[in-house]
Amino acid sequence: MIVVNPHHCPQNHPCPVVYRCPVGAIEQENYFSAPSINKEKCTDCGLCTRFCGVFQEQ
Ligand code: SF4
Repeated sequence: MIVVNPHHCPQNHPCPVVYRCPVGAIEQENYFSAPSINKEKCTDCGLCTRFCGVFQEQ
């Protein structure tokens, strides 16, 4: 399962990984919040973990 560790995110910029997810499962409420993963869409492909350490395999 892929999870977000918000403590590793400075939460001060648009998350570039939002546009990397092939199924659009990564959401960011605003530019000052950490991204989150929509578990109903996520396929656990692990792609996001290659772009940012905030996304981690658990
Ligand atoms: S594991 Fe894959 S499907 Fe899930 S959020 Fe990351 S890139 Fe998207």
